[in-house]
Amino acid sequence: MLNVYRQLAVLDQLYKIYDQFVDSLDVVCEKFCADCCTCNVTMTTLEAHKIISAIDLDSKKTMQDKLNQQITKQRFIPKITTNQLANICLSDDDPPEEAMDPSWGPCPILVDNACPVYDLRPFGCRCMVSKQRCADTGVAEIDEFTITVNHVFLQYIEHIDQNGFSGNLSDVMAHTIFNESADTGSQITIRQTTLIKNTPLTALLIPPEHRQKIEPILAALRAIKA
Ligand code: SF4
Ligand code: SF4
Repeated sequence: MLNVYRQLAVLDQLYKIYDQFVDSLDVVCEKFCADCCTCNVTMTTLEAHKIISAIDLDSKKTMQDKLNQQITKQRFIPKITTNQLANICLSDDDPPEEAMDPSWGPCPILVDNACPVYDLRPFGCRCMVSKQRCADTGVAEIDEFTITVNHVFLQYIEHIDQNGFSGNLSDVMAHTIFNESADTGSQITIRQTTLIKNTPLTALLIPPEHRQKIEPILAALRAIKA
């Protein structure tokens, strides 16, 4: 298992490869366009660690206050991770039903329609790209191949953080900030009930029609040096 510094180095390389892929797409996403910044975004604990280790103590305290408020409100709480979904698909079972509604509100980290941790944002935010402004259409327009690529990156990120957790951004961030501070352990147990243990990657979610087209991206992922 990689230590956290190597995990973060691999994560940076994954983000870089993905951002290069997005540069090749015809998308309209830009700064201050933030309809996709909802309270339903998910992330891993490794991605939370990347953000938290890069911000100062005051920003951490401000963020913790906002997150503590958010985790009392309605938000998307996933029941399974992407690698668990892949395993369910492999066994021909049905995934559990999960409730999510964008009207539940914005991401608690968002300030004046801009992300204060944009360069550090988790993959769940990076992969929200659209060919048309979501404000005009009501939903993001993402092509099927990009959705496949997104699944593959989610699976890799979960895999490198296989000893960590996934969950709603607010729960994961609150859990990680709390866990990395020298506080008592009682709240950690409570928050972990909304988190899911990550699962190693066993099979990639790639439909047959995308297997050839995605090969250069897979080659770039395989070439990552840990
Ligand atoms: S995904 Fe939609 S809301 Fe988000 S930046 Fe792109 S167009 Fe804007
Ligand atoms: S972390 Fe940043 S980019 Fe992600 S949803 Fe929140 S404000 Fe938007």
